[in-house]
Amino acid sequence: MAAHDPVEQKYVYDFAEGNKDLKDLLGGKGANLAEMTNLGLPVPPGFTITTEACKAYLTTGREPDGLAAQIEAHLESLEREMGRRLGDPDDPLLVSVRSGAKFSMPGMMETVLNVGLNDRSVVGLSNQAGGNDRFAWDSYRRLIQMFGKTVCEVPGEEFEHALDEIKRAKGTHNDLDLDADDLRGLVDAYKQIFAKHTGREFPQEPREQLDLAIRAVFDSWNAERAILYRRQERIPADLGTAVNVVTMVFGNLGPDSGTGVAFTRDPGSGAQGIYGDYLANAQGEDVVAGIRNTVPLQELEQLDKTSYDQLLGIMARLEEHYKDLCDIEFTIERGKLWMLQTRVGKRTAAAAFVIAGQLVDEGLIDLDEALHRVNGAQLAQLMFPRFQLDHEFEPVAKGIGASPGAASGKVVFTSARAVELAADGESVILVRRETNPDDLNGMIAAKGILTSRGGKTSHAAVVARGMGKTCVSGADELEVNVPAKKFTVGDHVVNEGDVVSIDGTTGKVYLGEVPVMPSEVVQYFEGELDPENTDDALVRSVHRIMTHADAARRLRVRTNADTGADAARARRFGAEGIGLCRTEHMFLGDRRELVERLILASGEREREDALAALLPLQRADFIEIFREMDGLPVTVRLIDPPLHEFLPPLEQLAVNVAVAQERGEDVAKEEALLAAVRRMHEENPMLGLRGVRLGLVIPGLFAMQVRAIAEAAVAVVRDGGKACPEIMVPLVGAVQELETVRAEAERIIAEVVGDSGVEVLIGTMIEVPRAALTAGQIAEAAEFFSFGTNDLTQMGWGFSRDDVEGAFFWRYLELGIFGISPFESIDTDGVGRLVRIAAEEGRAARPGLKLGVCGEHGGDPDSVHFFHEVGLDYVSCSPFRVPVARLEAGRASITTTGSDSR
Ligand code: PEP
Ligand code: MG
Repeated sequence: MAAHDPVEQKYVYDFAEGNKDLKDLLGGKGANLAEMTNLGLPVPPGFTITTEACKAYLTTGREPDGLAAQIEAHLESLEREMGRRLGDPDDPLLVSVRSGAKFSMPGMMETVLNVGLNDRSVVGLSNQAGGNDRFAWDSYRRLIQMFGKTVCEVPGEEFEHALDEIKRAKGTHNDLDLDADDLRGLVDAYKQIFAKHTGREFPQEPREQLDLAIRAVFDSWNAERAILYRRQERIPADLGTAVNVVTMVFGNLGPDSGTGVAFTRDPGSGAQGIYGDYLANAQGEDVVAGIRNTVPLQELEQLDKTSYDQLLGIMARLEEHYKDLCDIEFTIERGKLWMLQTRVGKRTAAAAFVIAGQLVDEGLIDLDEALHRVNGAQLAQLMFPRFQLDHEFEPVAKGIGASPGAASGKVVFTSARAVELAADGESVILVRRETNPDDLNGMIAAKGILTSRGGKTSHAAVVARGMGKTCVSGADELEVNVPAKKFTVGDHVVNEGDVVSIDGTTGKVYLGEVPVMPSEVVQYFEGELDPENTDDALVRSVHRIMTHADAARRLRVRTNADTGADAARARRFGAEGIGLCRTEHMFLGDRRELVERLILASGEREREDALAALLPLQRADFIEIFREMDGLPVTVRLIDPPLHEFLPPLEQLAVNVAVAQERGEDVAKEEALLAAVRRMHEENPMLGLRGVRLGLVIPGLFAMQVRAIAEAAVAVVRDGGKACPEIMVPLVGAVQELETVRAEAERIIAEVVGDSGVEVLIGTMIEVPRAALTAGQIAEAAEFFSFGTNDLTQMGWGFSRDDVEGAFFWRYLELGIFGISPFESIDTDGVGRLVRIAAEEGRAARPGLKLGVCGEHGGDPDSVHFFHEVGLDYVSCSPFRVPVARLEAGRASITTTGSDSR
């Protein structure tokens, strides 16, 4: 029974009451406004309504008890502090109402500025601003526009049309040419639009405006675009947003006012310096929306040196305090600087590594913290190729390199078209004048984004960087004509469907498809770039952090490789052995014919002949791999897939035979083949005759493989090398299966190995749920376990791994049944539990049992942390993911109190 709680929950915090560690409760923006307030920085006073209030509202559909009274009390104290009342006709206090979730979701949720303005207080505001009517009416029209759009769902275009109309009548393109009378007229027009769409007058009561705006921010947590963004960024759906109510300061009071955004370092490259955009005589939303082109922040020095110097001082202070790149929004109101927001800034993958290295050099953080600040997804991104440019390719335009990478694709002009073409497998570049949050679907679908307006901090840039997607913004030579589905640049006309290439690092735009070149990080891993001897800051930093990760990690990292070439590359990338050598590819190509003979053998003799022919080929395969991995463990898995996979498909074969029979040809051989295929046909081959089952049914098959492995190891050792083979039996579900295979294998190994000194371990995959649940018994017959999490997921969930991702996962993701495919990242609660049980019970039965994982999850960052925590000895993944796994294994080993870099 729920006890009555006599203490009312606190839903509202004054800025002075919070701090940066209260992000769960106050959201990122609120927590950081509080932190800056407590640092004594110039933050406009205000208060934060907690995420708890939002969650209560979203669950019950109404504001929780006590919230209204707490807002009232905080508003009163704010009014006292400011010496003004909200919406007072003579001297109004105005506030902004801003969303702010724990994790930044740029542009996804709502903001309403100038709350408190009405037909009377607009006059008071003008007086306050020294008789600046123009400013007061401009502020009022902005309120009606924002309030109408976000709180009452009035279509935004209606307001834009009305504004365009007035500008046209006045013969100008520039908002600043409109005078007070024009804006007063615009307010009337806006009010009519508001009334037409809502059936009521624009609310004149300031407190009603405030309450409705707060509610709209709460509601915006569940707006479609916010849901989509969260899914994409893997932000939990149940966090809710906080709401910040902040005293308005004005950047649009004239040329000595303005607004801007700044980074303490370049969020694109990590280079030190001053990066940002400034827009004089404007309100904050103008910069983020990319509506007018901004000037570089450095130009503020000429415009207002005092504020510029003060801002630089604050930026240095914030970096020192947060010990990280900070991203800042500020406003200057008549020469007075106000800080509106700061947060640990988003950055590109390259900048993340470079900055982490710099901060270590500056003594602000240690190497553990540097390792914590980067992640495997970023490293993976840096391993992408870039454009290979020679003189043939001349850029046709240059914008701002807003999110690095190289992307080519067909030009599209709408989000819908981007989604449509991408669904057909096309690479597309979404071209817009500027993007807004409604373009999110198209941005996700596109390979790259190109805009003709906006700076590094415009919506397109921020969102693209967050997604790791190539973006060029502000390419203002482009005349983008969305309705005509074309853009022009110089003499060129580019239509929908034409191919362009964009470079998100340099900001250059090319016509046609530009070839790509490998990343320097890959060159470093390949050993082609000496990290001690390069002026490439990225490579130096990657090297330093990887070295630290290697020293820190407990998990070993192996690779999944079945050829000498893959093994060699993986070794260069840092693999410490092979965790899975799938032998089935060794039965393909020109060996198919031998396999067919094996399958179709009519007697023991024929089968033995086929196996005898396969033996030397297999032995040669293993020799090559053992040599490449000289001295490192190599886990060779005995053949796993159903044998009929090596035969032609049933339908095709049946047709061929029927046609040949019709023609009266001799089809005896084909008929035998067809009969075999029919005999072996299975309704559920993944659950049929494969893995250990096959080994127990086809005499001599596993024996041949075991012999080839042992003989290869002996040959390598005789040549002076060192081979450490581990034979792995697939699809075991019962210890008896393993015991049977083991008995025969041990006999063969003993016979082959003799006194060569070769040691061969025998172990099993754990990929059938029954194996996980009887791991204690199975461990009696296994020297190691390797978790096959692909099959364990397939059989644990009952999901056909070949079908479900395309068939219905989209719906499961949409419904939030899981946030990511369990084939991609381990389902820790279910499949992970099977792993945990097997690890514990296996080790209890056989202390020292070696444990690894070789399913796809071995290279997935989150899964690596789970395997570390469960106590596995190693993860094994594809060669390209080896560095990612090394990094994440290092990150899993360190504990730090540092900030979450998301
Ligand atoms: C697995 O099932 O996780 C595994 C590694 O084996 P395969 O993918 O070859 O079935
Ligand atoms: Mg498997």
